[in-house]
Amino acid sequence: MTTEQRYDVAVVGAGLVGGALACALARHGVRTIVIDRLDPRVMVAPAFDGRASAVALTSRHFLEAIGVWRHVAPGTQAMREIRISDNASPLFLHYDHADIGDQPLGYMAENRHLRVALAKEMTALPDLTVMSGVSVAGMTQTPDEVILETSGGPVRAALTVTAEGRDSQLRKLAGINVTGWDYPQVGLVATIAHARSHDGIAHERFLPAGPFAILPLKGNRASLVWTERSDTATSYMAMDDAAFLREIEERVGGFLGALTLEGPRFSYPLGLQFAQQYTKGRLVLAGDAAHGIHPIAGQGVNLGWRDAAALTEIIVDAMRLGLDIANVDSLARYERWRRADNLLMAGMTDALNRLFSNDVAPVRLARDVGLATVNKLTPLKKLFMRHAMGAVGDVPRLMRG
Ligand SMILES: Cc1cc2nc3c(=O)[nH]c(=O)nc-3n(C[C@H](O)[C@H](O)[C@H](O)COP(=O)(O)OP(=O)(O)OC[C@H]3O[C@@H](n4cnc5c(N)ncnc54)[C@H](O)[C@@H]3O)c2cc1C
Repeated sequence: MTTEQRYDVAVVGAGLVGGALACALARHGVRTIVIDRLDPRVMVAPAFDGRASAVALTSRHFLEAIGVWRHVAPGTQAMREIRISDNASPLFLHYDHADIGDQPLGYMAENRHLRVALAKEMTALPDLTVMSGVSVAGMTQTPDEVILETSGGPVRAALTVTAEGRDSQLRKLAGINVTGWDYPQVGLVATIAHARSHDGIAHERFLPAGPFAILPLKGNRASLVWTERSDTATSYMAMDDAAFLREIEERVGGFLGALTLEGPRFSYPLGLQFAQQYTKGRLVLAGDAAHGIHPIAGQGVNLGWRDAAALTEIIVDAMRLGLDIANVDSLARYERWRRADNLLMAGMTDALNRLFSNDVAPVRLARDVGLATVNKLTPLKKLFMRHAMGAVGDVPRLMRG
C-alpha cells in the first residue's frame, strides 16, 4: 500500500455502511481507499457486535450487486411474517409476505457475519486499498482534493466520504452541525436459542418502556432487541445470566418453548440525530454519520446502504461523463435525494417510539385501534410492507435487483 497515490474516493469508516460503499465503488472501477481505526480481526469477533440486522429486500439486492450477499446468504433467515402487538391487547397488526408476492419481507443477518463478508470482499477487489488500524485525525480541502491526516501518513483523494458513525470526527471538523436528542432508553441486545421453530416470524411487542423485538435467526435462534428505560436497564445488565433469562422469558412468553441465552448481552444508548448538511466541499456524509435513528423499525443500516448505493450511482455517472466526481451538481443531487428519504424515516421512527413507549390509557386505546384498522385496510398495509422491504421512493439502480 502506498499513501503517495491519489485516490478517487477515500471512505473513512469500514463499518457496515463504509465497507459496503467501498466495495460498490471499487467494483465500478473507482479507485478507492477505505480507512478504519480498528483492526478487521477486532470487528469480526462475536463479542464486538452482537446485533443482527433486518436486511430489506432492496438491501439484499445491493449486497448481491457488490458481491457480499453470497458470503452472508447461508447464515441468513428469511422473514416471512411480522406480528406487531401492544402489550396485552388482543388487537394486533400482521404482515404476511404472501399478501404481496412470493418474496420474503426481508432477511435477518447477524452483524458479525456481515462484517466477515465485507472484509472478505474488501480484500479481494483490485481497485480497493484497505488501511486498517489507522485513525483519521484531520482534513484539509484544496480546490481539487482532500488531504486526510492519518496515523499512517497523509491520504489524498478527490472526494472523501465519512462513514464514521454517529460521532463522525470529519463531520465535526467540517463544522457540520447535527440536530437531535437522546431517548431516555437503551437497546438491550441478546441472542437466544429456543426449543420450538420460529417459522420465520418476527414479533414486535410494545411494552411500556418501549418495543421488544424477537427476530428470527438461522436455526432455532432469535435476536432480541429489548428497548428499556435507561435508568432501569443498568440493573438488567448487572443481573446474572439466570435472572436475565427469567426477565426475557417473562417478556417472550411460552410460544418458542424452553429458552437459553447464547453469547454475551449488549447495551446501546439510543438517540435521534440528523446532520444539517450532507456535503461540504469535497466531503460527503453517509450512514450513521449523516443520520442516527431509533431501531424500532430496523431501518438504520438499510438507510445507510441506500446512501451508499445512491452515492455510487452519482459518482459513476459523473465519471462516465468525464466530470470531477465532487462537482457541485452531483453532490447536491446526492444531498437532495438522500436527505429527504432519511428525514422521513427519522420522523416516522421517532413518532412510532413516542406513540408506543408509554402506558397512558387513551393513547394505548388509540394506537390499538390504529393497529387493528391498518390490519384491515389492505392497501395501506401493503404500502407499509413495501416500505419495510425498501421498495418505496426513488430506489437507486444497484438496489433494484
Ligand atoms: C440495538 C440496535 C439494533 C439495530 N438493528 C438494526 C436493524 O435491524 N436493521 C437496520 O437497518 N439497522 C439497525 N440498527 C442500526 C445500525 O446498526 C446502524 O445504522 C449501522 O450499524 C450504522 O453503520 P455505519 O457503518 O454507518 O456506522 P458504524 O457501524 O458506527 O461504523 C463506523 C466505523 O467507522 C470507524 N471510525 C470512526 N471514526 C473513525 C476515524 N476517525 N478514523 C478511522 N475510522 C473511524 C469505526 O471504527 C467503525 O468501524 C440497529 C441499531 C441498534 C443500536
